[in-house]
Amino acid sequence: MTICLTFDTDHMSEVNLSKWLSSVEIEGCATFYCGQKFDILEGTKHLQAPHPDFAGKTNFIELIDEYQKMFPSCKTWRSHSLLFSQSICVELFRRGYTSVSISEQFGAQGIAPNRLPWGPVDMSIYYMDNSDFCNFNNMHNDDHVPFNRKIIDRIFENGSVFDKKKVYVFDFHPIHIALNTRSYGTYAAERDAYKSDGAVSQDSASRYGVKNFYNELIASMKENSVESISIEQAVEEFYS
Ligand SMILES: [Zn+2]
Repeated sequence: MTICLTFDTDHMSEVNLSKWLSSVEIEGCATFYCGQKFDILEGTKHLQAPHPDFAGKTNFIELIDEYQKMFPSCKTWRSHSLLFSQSICVELFRRGYTSVSISEQFGAQGIAPNRLPWGPVDMSIYYMDNSDFCNFNNMHNDDHVPFNRKIIDRIFENGSVFDKKKVYVFDFHPIHIALNTRSYGTYAAERDAYKSDGAVSQDSASRYGVKNFYNELIASMKENSVESISIEQAVEEFYS
């Protein structure tokens, strides 16, 4: 089994990300999908990859180009809000990208990389924090429980650890780990203070949120001796 820890750095500044990195444990090598280049990530073992935001942009090729210049050696790609299309896929492949991580299969079993007909491999997301705690328009089934421990436990069950063909991509937002986000409401109320001066609410430590869930995942990875590898490495190993 392979686990890829990925982080989308939305709303993070260089200063906040730097503090964040020294406050969390990352088991193995992670992939950071970044809307900007972070100096603090240079020289770490982690991979920095494009995370362009297409909102308000009319020329998608220009934006893809801008991010390729920012991260010239990177071969994986994930846009903000997972915005994607067949034309974007063709353009990415033409530019040498070998993978995207652009679809979600929340909590699904047996997820494997999927080579898209237009070239790149889609490293589908098994768990995304805001897909779990947001419940806009009652989008979740009635039985959905946020931060369900089973999401973690089931990937380690029945000898899955030894199954090379299972790849689990986790997508966390550093801002949600920093705030220990519990719901969209707590996030919306606390985001701006964190962005302006790194402030975290007093309630953060007393509630169960993204940070607790992330730490439980890290503990299970350690227990099972599984370290995260980068998305690029996971693609290479899966097809080797
Ligand atoms: Zn994003």
